[in-house]
Amino acid sequence: MSSHTGKFDEYGGQYVPEALMPAIEELEDAYERYVLDNEDGFMDEFRQRLADFGGRPTPLQRADRLSERYDAEVYLKREDLLHGGAHKLNNALGQVLLAKYMGKDRIIAETGAGQHGTATAMACAHLGMPCEVYMGRRDINRQRPNVFRMRLNGAEVTPVTVGRGTLKEAISETMRDWAENVEDTHYVIGSVVGPHPFPAMVRDFQRVISEEAREQTREKAGRLPDSVLTCAGGGSNTMGLFAEFVDDESVDLYAVEAGGSSLEVDEAEGVAPNSATLSTGTEGILHGSRTRILQDGDGQIMESHSVSAGLDYAGVGPELAALVDRDRVTAVNVGDDGALAGFHRLSQLEGIIPALESAHALGYVEDHHEELGEVILVNVSGRGDKDLETVLEETHDRDIEGAPDMDTFESTGGF
Ligand SMILES: *Cc1c(COP(=O)(O)O)cnc(C)c1O
Repeated sequence: MSSHTGKFDEYGGQYVPEALMPAIEELEDAYERYVLDNEDGFMDEFRQRLADFGGRPTPLQRADRLSERYDAEVYLKREDLLHGGAHKLNNALGQVLLAKYMGKDRIIAETGAGQHGTATAMACAHLGMPCEVYMGRRDINRQRPNVFRMRLNGAEVTPVTVGRGTLKEAISETMRDWAENVEDTHYVIGSVVGPHPFPAMVRDFQRVISEEAREQTREKAGRLPDSVLTCAGGGSNTMGLFAEFVDDESVDLYAVEAGGSSLEVDEAEGVAPNSATLSTGTEGILHGSRTRILQDGDGQIMESHSVSAGLDYAGVGPELAALVDRDRVTAVNVGDDGALAGFHRLSQLEGIIPALESAHALGYVEDHHEELGEVILVNVSGRGDKDLETVLEETHDRDIEGAPDMDTFESTGGF
């Protein structure tokens, strides 16, 4: 699909206020020169920094006990081992470095759960750029460790108090700041969403995941995988993992969304108890791009839900939406309980505590491994340390398959 026009079939585009067009056009030009054409050796420096600072390449690991359990070859791409504990650094480092090449001297970003803000703050400290992160007041209260991490790395965290005080409002505030300061400021968007060139550019910064994983699978399994699975929120780890496999017709691609507590939507209340945008959303415009979104009959964005904060987003990348419409990618979903079970299973069988986001993909493999062929590649997009508190709370009152006895945790005061 063409990335130059910013259109992915009927999705994508640039739906932004006039005041932002100069910034968007300048970024488009920089994307083409530095990322696509490697001008001034930009991509070489990017890859070198991903290696030295980020620890790339990340391993591809054969999951021995899962392989035995499913009578298949299960391989895990270990993005949890990237510096910062998730794939988000690939994009944050790419964009902050690009801003430097563009002569910008200030970075802004928005963050919901705090993972993207944390990655951006790390990249800014590494490259010596001042960084301001907008974050909803409610999210600040819910995600204190991440707020502290950002500040430790020298970033300023600005609370957004309008509306519900969550990601949606933080994005609007960051857009406003960008429009006012286009001369010296770059806005680092955290997923393959937003106006062109962001969806294509973020995919190209995350593409390194599939460049490595495709080669590593060929080396270790002796051939390409039959199926490739990963979780999808905005879809950046998803597009990063799929990019190099899209032309491999024998490889089935699965985007696993958050089914939350139910796929039913309460239109009157404007609440979706899930974040399954690809499975249940409809076409509309969100954050400068035409894509699939969770909206009510009047086009109001619905409040979404997932046990994993990183998947809790009412939109999805336009290219991923187009690949699903073309039947190249299969959109599926796993609910909160299935993700929690996946979290405990990987922790106990493989000694890897995955992010709750990644656990959705593992939940899908558990229920559908018979349809996934002999060689199965799953992305572990991040590590689960950030989710321990949530898992403790969420597992306690439910009957989660394979979970340790939570009463023991309670009686010993937690840990
Ligand atoms: C943010 C996050 C996600 C979801 O973001 P995508 O853009 O959909 O990849 C998934 N996994 C982890 C670990 C995250 O931090």
